[in-house]
Amino acid sequence: MSKKRIRIEGREFEVLLSSRRISRRVREISATLSEEYKGKDTLILPVLNGSFIFAADLIRDMDIDTEISFIKIASYRGTTSGFDPAELIGLGTDIRNRHVLILEDIIDTGTTLSKLIGKILEYQPASVRTACLLFKPEANITNIKPDFAGFEIPNDFVIGYGLDYNGYGRKYKDIYVLVTEG
Ligand code: 5GP
Ligand code: MG
Repeated sequence: MSKKRIRIEGREFEVLLSSRRISRRVREISATLSEEYKGKDTLILPVLNGSFIFAADLIRDMDIDTEISFIKIASYRGTTSGFDPAELIGLGTDIRNRHVLILEDIIDTGTTLSKLIGKILEYQPASVRTACLLFKPEANITNIKPDFAGFEIPNDFVIGYGLDYNGYGRKYKDIYVLVTEG
C-alpha cells in the first residue's frame, strides 16, 4: 500500500510517523516528565517555532503545573557555529537554582541545542535537560544528546506537527518525510 503523500511548495512528502503513533509517544514522554519533575521548581522552555505543537500537547498532558516561557533563536541557520547570544529571545525569567527543561521539535546537528545549553548554564540552574520529539543520531556533530527523545529518525528532512518547509506544513497532524526522486 502506498503511503499518504502531500505536496508543499512543489515538493513531495510522504508519511513517516502517523498522528496516532505521535500521540501515543507524547503521552509516554509526558508521563515520564511528570514523574521526573514532580515537586521540583521547574521552568519549561519550548524553543519556537517548531516546538509549538509538541509543547502544547506534551505540557497539557503533564500532571504538574510548571512555569512555561517560550524562547526563540533569531537566526540559527546563518552560520555553521550556531547562534550569537544576542539572538536568543525570551529568556527573561530567573533560572538560577531552578530545574530547566528545554523542549525542541527536532535535534539535527545538535549545534543549536549545544549553544542553548551553554547559554542557560551561565545562569546557574539546578539542572538543565532536553526533551525533543525527533532526534537524528546520524546528523549529530556534537556530544549533546537529548535526555528524552520521542523518535530516532534517519537523516532526512521532515515536516508536520510543528515542523515547516519554508514556513509551510506546520499544521499537519502526521509527520512527513521529503521524497527524493530517482
Ligand atoms: P540543529 O542545530 O540541531 O542542526 O538544528 C536544529 C533546528 O533545525 C531544529 O530545531 C529545526 O528547526 C531545524 N531542523 C533540523 N532538521 C530539520 C528537519 O528535518 N525538518 C525541519 N522542518 N526542520 C529541521
Ligand atoms: Mg527548532
